[in-house]
Amino acid sequence: MATSPFSRKSLGLEGKEPPAVPPVAPPERGFLRKPKLGAARVRKKDIPEGIWTKCPKCSTMIYDKELDEHLKVCPHCGHHFPIGARERINSLVETCSFEEMDAAMTSVDVLEFTGVASYGEKLDSYRKNTGLRDAVVTGIGRIGPSRVGLGVMDFGFLGGSMGSVVGEKLTRLIEQTTAQGLPLIIVSTSGGARMYEGMFSLMQMAKTSAALAYHARSRLPYLSVLTHPTTAGVMASYASLGDLILAEPGAMIGFAGPRVIKDTTQAELPPGFQTAEFLRDRGLIDAIIPRRDLKEQLAFFLEFLMGSRQPLATSP
Ligand SMILES: [Zn+2]
Repeated sequence: MATSPFSRKSLGLEGKEPPAVPPVAPPERGFLRKPKLGAARVRKKDIPEGIWTKCPKCSTMIYDKELDEHLKVCPHCGHHFPIGARERINSLVETCSFEEMDAAMTSVDVLEFTGVASYGEKLDSYRKNTGLRDAVVTGIGRIGPSRVGLGVMDFGFLGGSMGSVVGEKLTRLIEQTTAQGLPLIIVSTSGGARMYEGMFSLMQMAKTSAALAYHARSRLPYLSVLTHPTTAGVMASYASLGDLILAEPGAMIGFAGPRVIKDTTQAELPPGFQTAEFLRDRGLIDAIIPRRDLKEQLAFFLEFLMGSRQPLATSP
């Protein structure tokens, strides 16, 4: 009896010949299954890293050099990207006028905190990646004609979290400006207190606030600039204590996250909740200033406030 002509070939079992039926895809690649988490990464390979950045608001691809020229603001829709502390300082102070303070101060892993990685290891990797020693850079520089104490936080260093070093550097800056009779600007961006330092990070809230009280008692102005995002322990201390509180457009500003508030209050949150614009309309923030105008506006406010301070301070 003759064998069926389909029996071996159609099953692809015939010697060197290729199978007549294409092999069935393994079940993990079937279209009904969820794509693996890393699957989207393949598409990113098409875009060389460090040359183009996609704007999350208007989806335009922006040439990185162009983004840098616009101080990390989207030239199409005005979306404010995060900006590093040193870039921010360069964009605000007069050339070569900035003298950094406490540049070598570093955190100590006092609790010997260990999670997925130890706190010490995390600090090492963030120092290497950012070129910073901690999440704030402080110093005294000149904006327009005014000398000013300037503290700038960097979200890229452990989420701009406030540990002992951030608190101590800012406190020293505030005390120095009080001693020298200078105005003060702190540009904040932070996820809050640094959990790796436990109670030591929470103590920084009281320390910085107390130093600001002495600064205010000397009738010296303090301008707080809130950038995306400024939350939790930082917002609950020095960031909300400014004589003038300014913010960048679209910045998320608040204490607890919206989900926590919604779960706690069991109420629907209004649209735009915790944005700079929402808080300006309700009086917490005095003005929203786009990044390109920030230097000019700060120079104006400093001159105005320090100029008006003289007759007030000398009046009986
Ligand atoms: Zn855009």
